[in-house]
Amino acid sequence: MSTLATVAVLVQKYLDDILAEHADITDGAVADYIPELASVDPSSFGLSLELSDGYVYESGDSATEFTIQSISKPFTYALAIDQVGTDAVDAKIGVEPSGEPFNEISVDDQTKTPKNAMINAGAIAAVSLIPGADAQQRFERLLDFYSACAGRRLDVDEDVYNSEKATGSRNRAIAYMLQSFGVLDGDPDEVLDVYFRQCAIKVTSSDLACMASTLARGGVNPGSGIRITSDAVVQRTLSVMMTCGMYDATGMWATTVGMPAKSGVGGGIIAVLPSQLGIGVYAPPLDKNGNSVRGLRACQSLSAQLGLHVMSVTRESRSTIRATHDIAAGVRVYELHGDLLFAGAERALRIVEHDSDEVDVAILELSRVDDINDVARRMLAGMRQSLNRRGKEGYLVDPDRRVMPAGSATASAVIFPTVAQALDAAGAR
Ligand code: GLU
Repeated sequence: MSTLATVAVLVQKYLDDILAEHADITDGAVADYIPELASVDPSSFGLSLELSDGYVYESGDSATEFTIQSISKPFTYALAIDQVGTDAVDAKIGVEPSGEPFNEISVDDQTKTPKNAMINAGAIAAVSLIPGADAQQRFERLLDFYSACAGRRLDVDEDVYNSEKATGSRNRAIAYMLQSFGVLDGDPDEVLDVYFRQCAIKVTSSDLACMASTLARGGVNPGSGIRITSDAVVQRTLSVMMTCGMYDATGMWATTVGMPAKSGVGGGIIAVLPSQLGIGVYAPPLDKNGNSVRGLRACQSLSAQLGLHVMSVTRESRSTIRATHDIAAGVRVYELHGDLLFAGAERALRIVEHDSDEVDVAILELSRVDDINDVARRMLAGMRQSLNRRGKEGYLVDPDRRVMPAGSATASAVIFPTVAQALDAAGAR
């Protein structure tokens, strides 16, 4: 059996076992305040996990469609930011937990805007920010965005849509209240129509895993490789999911599962482990907070067994400096490797500076660095100046300028294609 097959079997077994472990739980009740939601099979249970490279694991009823309901909220919020910018969205929707039920007819006392985009008031305001000449255009834009995240064309459950439209007085009250506070421009009924439709979009747990994994990848759908929105939009969206995504149990979720997430009254949950994976779960019966009972337990098990909590404090998997060699008198080569972010670059440069008491020329060899961010790049570029101030010299070796591409951020660095050339320069000094 190949290694991949072995890994796949192992992970598949984790998922199947978690499903089996929780399958018999019958606690909770299917939502029925939207009459059509009460007609789903309460025993359905689907669990899907998509890695950030697009590899998918599925277990149970992962192909069963259900309505996305409030899991739509982070995606509409993301699209609103993507389309009109953070400032315009912030002017209408806050980012604080509300401490109130998701469908409360209320706004923030001070700002008179909805507290956040994960409750109905904020979600309805977010819909009103999506550009479009009419409800149809707005909805099409939303549906295109959701579909791009899911990697397939999604559509609406007309029965659930009509059922909510016929009974959604509370949401009507919210929309008219928002209009009276000047949060919502345009016709509240038109905005509500889009909102009811977005809640009735049909997804499977695997669609949700793909949508979650698109967020995990900072806005790139891992299956198609297509960028759907920017890192910045995703960062904001995940932040609000982390603090407001699981109704009034968000704190409990954050402590016991520890991933930005969103649940919906249809029984679905998405959870996102940034840079790594997305999870989609479906199990209709809800607890008193409105979260899927089995979905929550499955995510707790998955997080504990696979170590997915975002706050888990792990030892750095590899230290930034892989090896050092003294290649001539006073000339030391530092081989850096792995992903170079702020903490790694800071540590490496602190060591280089410390060594500069005994080393005249530091050569940082970067060919094994996998990835680097802007701050680490600026810090490496600045190394030379700080060594020069001590009368010492610092060079970088980056064979094809992959890590330190030519540009203003790297202008102050002296970069060679090989260690030998850096050593020649050191000798000529
Ligand atoms: N369509 C539902 C509503 O607005 C969504 C609620 C939810 O999933 O939290 O009431």
